[in-house]
Amino acid sequence: MPSASLRLAVVGAGAAGLAAARELRREGHAPVVFERAAAVGGTWLYTPPATAADPLGAAATHSSLYASLRTNLPREVMGFLDFPFVASAATGSADPRRFPGHEEVLRYLEAFARRFDLLPLVRFETEVLRVRREPGVGWAVASRKLGEKGSGEEEVYDAVVVCNGHYTEPRVATIPGVHTWPGKQMHSHNYREPEPFLDQVVIIIGASASAVDISRDVASVAKEVHIADRSAPASTNQKQPGYDNLWLHSMIDRAQDDGSVVFRDGSLIKADVIMHCTGYLYDFPFLGDDSTINVDDNRVDPLYKHVFPPEVAPQLSFIGLPWKVIPFPLFELQSKWVAGVLSGRIELPSKEEMMEDVKAFYLNLEALGWPKRYTHNFSNYQFEYDDWLAEQCGYPPIEEWRKLMYAATTKNKAARPESYRDEWDDDHLAIEANEDFKKYLK
Ligand code: FAD
Repeated sequence: MPSASLRLAVVGAGAAGLAAARELRREGHAPVVFERAAAVGGTWLYTPPATAADPLGAAATHSSLYASLRTNLPREVMGFLDFPFVASAATGSADPRRFPGHEEVLRYLEAFARRFDLLPLVRFETEVLRVRREPGVGWAVASRKLGEKGSGEEEVYDAVVVCNGHYTEPRVATIPGVHTWPGKQMHSHNYREPEPFLDQVVIIIGASASAVDISRDVASVAKEVHIADRSAPASTNQKQPGYDNLWLHSMIDRAQDDGSVVFRDGSLIKADVIMHCTGYLYDFPFLGDDSTINVDDNRVDPLYKHVFPPEVAPQLSFIGLPWKVIPFPLFELQSKWVAGVLSGRIELPSKEEMMEDVKAFYLNLEALGWPKRYTHNFSNYQFEYDDWLAEQCGYPPIEEWRKLMYAATTKNKAARPESYRDEWDDDHLAIEANEDFKKYLK
């Protein structure tokens, strides 16, 4: 029998928290969304350039967006399943491109929040400080309004849904000798615009979407940009096609106190800046040991299907941990699942069975030779996972055109790294998607 309406705490009002709030309320529950920022949008709330106190560190008050950022997924693929990210008045559109600038995504998320009347559920400028289990009662959530002091106000909820994002706490590469290297180091989290790098020699570590974008952005003004990619063969030292001042190297071997940086092939560059585009760490500073989860080498452990810690399921859940995915539809499906499980409409296996599933998943990763830090990397099975969630919730599988368009974009990005956002070969899929969207746009 479905339970009565539950009082639920949702941490974060980014895309995941908004999706969760919508699905939880749709299921008849009463979610309260805690958001430390003054607005919804999370990652997509761009903050203008400012001098970060620690250019290598996190700052809770700003997201990781840079000024020039355009989406790396086409809008048809990226949007929520039944609230298409089309360039229309309904989504507040002002940038109709298929790969729009970041401002358009924020407008879309704001439109989503308005459309489903989510704003009244959000307590803005309120940070969750602690989440503590009260056996037999629920979960005590301590929160504090911005500007207030003290240990916060505590309230008890039936369950907590964690949607705090994972692009805030920088992961930094280890470089022998860097402590005596005299240049400046920073993390892409604190990168906004290329101008401060005018005429400088910049080394960018990483090969992800941010490293690719930022290296091109910086190369527009810098004297030289050198990308250090740990997966490139040691002998790599290539000028990049179409650029006079952009090189690809293998990883850095060491940094030296005369300002030089040596790559694994032995080549040496005198550099002004090392920028770490090396990703982020999962971080849940408000959770204690009673959450039963532990983060080690970027594995959030143990979680059944990357959502529920078996020991305390379903009273604690996590939306949005997987990466190398299409995030918004995945958030939506995870949220539907959590909402249905919380109301008792969808059943979870026993604790023991969930733990067995987690162990089997880890063994499979090991057999594939995947490092622990790739536990939540879904590059090989995001759609399998989405469709499994959909099946649990009695929802149709991900549309075939979305799967094909994601594959076409991945291929196009590899073939046209400089221009994939403006040139493509999948117009037929965009037509099919827009035909499909008509059912939601009446
Ligand atoms: P977030 O957006 O980070 O939201 C988390 C929210 O939780 C924040 O608002 C934060 O303030 C709040 N919060 C955290 N801790 C607390 C606390 N203790 N108390 C109260 N509130 C708290 N995705 C795409 O689909 N397409 C793209 O093109 C794309 N490009 C990206 C580019 C960059 C540079 C980055 C970093 C990410 C990109 N992503 C992209 C992924 C993007 O992160 C997701 O699309 C999505 O926005 C993540 O949403 P989230 O809700 O999980 O996290």
